[in-house]
Amino acid sequence: MTFRTRFAPSPTGPLHLGHAYSAIIAHDMARAAGGAFLLRMEDTDLQRSKPEWDAAIIEDLTWLGLRWDEPILRQSEHLNDYNKYLKAFESMGFLYPCSCSRGDIRAALSAPQEGVSHDVYPGTCKNRPMSDRKPGDALRLHLDRALSRLKGQNVTFEETGAAHKGTHHLDPERALQEIGDVVLSRKGEEIIAYFLASALDDVHQEITHVVRGEDLFDFTQLQVLLLTLLELPVPIYHHHRLIRDEAGKRLAKRDDARAIAKYRAEGATPQDIRRMVGLG
Ligand code: GLU
Repeated sequence: MTFRTRFAPSPTGPLHLGHAYSAIIAHDMARAAGGAFLLRMEDTDLQRSKPEWDAAIIEDLTWLGLRWDEPILRQSEHLNDYNKYLKAFESMGFLYPCSCSRGDIRAALSAPQEGVSHDVYPGTCKNRPMSDRKPGDALRLHLDRALSRLKGQNVTFEETGAAHKGTHHLDPERALQEIGDVVLSRKGEEIIAYFLASALDDVHQEITHVVRGEDLFDFTQLQVLLLTLLELPVPIYHHHRLIRDEAGKRLAKRDDARAIAKYRAEGATPQDIRRMVGLG
């Protein structure tokens, strides 16, 4: 198996030290393995993604000395390709329309339930058939139905990152409690949820190793579940440590103070950046 990995930023802000670390790790792993390193712009959020951030990210990565082996894939350029997977979920009976606003969801969740995260959808629209779909509705995954299809199947994924190294087994009970009925397509648009688009493009780009920050580990269970339901190959995952600020907080998306462009303007070299993230 040829090693293929990617860096998949969302062009919604500047590249900061945390992103640079992630991109360098993925790039260096690909080079060490004699494999391929790809760049993918995850710009399905058409409101927040900006061409100027896309250009700035490319400039910073190039300055860091990183090169990608294939043309950049921009998700916004092939949004229609995702619809066939939504249709596949629909024909399996795993989707239902949802008209709940964030406010409705919060109200329904206001009585805390033990062991249930507040982000888990309470299921208000769960019994609505797809034939009842209104123009402004979102589409949700009927997780219990989806999981019952996988009954008896041992769904696993491999992790090579230090913090979670080993084989992980999908636990249906935990998935129900922690994931719940996620939104796969946003309100009023045929636009797909970013975690699904990302997993589908990993398949599309034949990514063998997903290298990314530890903060995304919680998505892995969900992404593995979705790929397995679609009978698509599941990559190996490698979640690396996060670059934190002095207070131990993970760098925020818009942490301009640690933007690569700022260090560049101050005269730092790519080697300085590597040293700053502990790779020098
Ligand atoms: N686009 C995601 C982000 O910028 C990364 C997704 C991934 O690496 O799987 O946070």
